[in-house]
Amino acid sequence: MIPIIKPLMGEEEAAAASRVILSGWVTQGPEVAAFETEFAAYMGAEHAVAVSNCTTGLHLALLAAGVGEGDEVITVSHSYIATANAIRYCSAEPVFVDIDPRTCNLDPSLIEAAMTPRTKAVLLVHQMGMPADLAAIVKIARANNLFVIEDAACAAGSEILWDGAWEKVGRVRGDAAVFSFHPRKILSTGDGGMITTPHADWAAKFKRLRQHGMTVPDTVRHKSKQVVFETHPELGYNYRMTDIQAAVGREQLKRLPGVVARRRELVDLYRAELADAPGIEVPEEPSWARSNWQSFSVRLSEALDQKAVMQAMLDAGVATRRGIMCAHREEHYQGSKLPAPLPHSEAQQDRRIILPLYVQMSDEDVRTVVAALKTATAARGR
Ligand SMILES: *Cc1c(COP(=O)(O)O)cnc(C)c1O
Repeated sequence: MIPIIKPLMGEEEAAAASRVILSGWVTQGPEVAAFETEFAAYMGAEHAVAVSNCTTGLHLALLAAGVGEGDEVITVSHSYIATANAIRYCSAEPVFVDIDPRTCNLDPSLIEAAMTPRTKAVLLVHQMGMPADLAAIVKIARANNLFVIEDAACAAGSEILWDGAWEKVGRVRGDAAVFSFHPRKILSTGDGGMITTPHADWAAKFKRLRQHGMTVPDTVRHKSKQVVFETHPELGYNYRMTDIQAAVGREQLKRLPGVVARRRELVDLYRAELADAPGIEVPEEPSWARSNWQSFSVRLSEALDQKAVMQAMLDAGVATRRGIMCAHREEHYQGSKLPAPLPHSEAQQDRRIILPLYVQMSDEDVRTVVAALKTATAARGR
């Protein structure tokens, strides 16, 4: 059986967790601080703040942007539901716009028509690791006094060409980027997340809000020779990452360049093997983007039945997933705000399938998946 993904963790991660457990300091201590410093350096970000997961990180980023009751945030429906949920946590409304079907990312040309006097921010997604058109989105947002938050859940190691030089997603050109370390992503701490931002005041706010709004961090109290009393001037949350997770994350970060390089090789092989396959379209990578290929998906022609193809592949021992969901089709988002229909978002959910991709895969495994896909599609016209 070829699974959809296999987390890459080994003795290094186990030893790191064990070291922290035996150290006597297991949360919000030196490992979290070191992970933040190393993550910021790797991404080229001014500040990085570790949180419990990407969803809580998005909540804090939206709060820092001042998103509140009655405000609107322009985003995509075509994303994991957490993107839209984080907006609702702020008692604000997601306004869903359509995607570019080639990249599965927010189409910048639709932003202006979706704006109202209540619009506070654009929450874009680097879907499946493919960079969104950040330059175009930041330009429109800045011209209209909107904040830009990046849902970079899947995008650790992805790169964007900015002013002629390649830089990492997370070297924030808007206001904040938020990463996920869930095992479905390519850098994992079990669960966990990280916010990067160029704003020192935002970073300070994230550190307070993740820790119940407390004014004095544990590390400061611990080191102080004087008795320090903390206060809680604002509503905070428990969105902490533990030191056990952070220590695992530091090991995962060391692996990331190699992981991304191997994923790119495997995708090149997929592309070559699928070049002549009828009814199957491989994703396009814009000239200014380098994906980490957190997920590799193909689009099936309209004549092919997605579920039947997936079932035939499962029968052949190959796991797949359907395309990314659309939040506006879920019960909680019935009646939510769509300035225009979302035909491309819906078509990607219904026609795309995600293929297995993980570092431990051999070239032979890729050929097995492609053979199963070709057999399944040859037999599964509607
Ligand atoms: C996985 C994912 C999230 C949620 O991440 P968690 O760490 O599980 O909170 C949010 N947005 C996107 C696009 C994701 O893929």
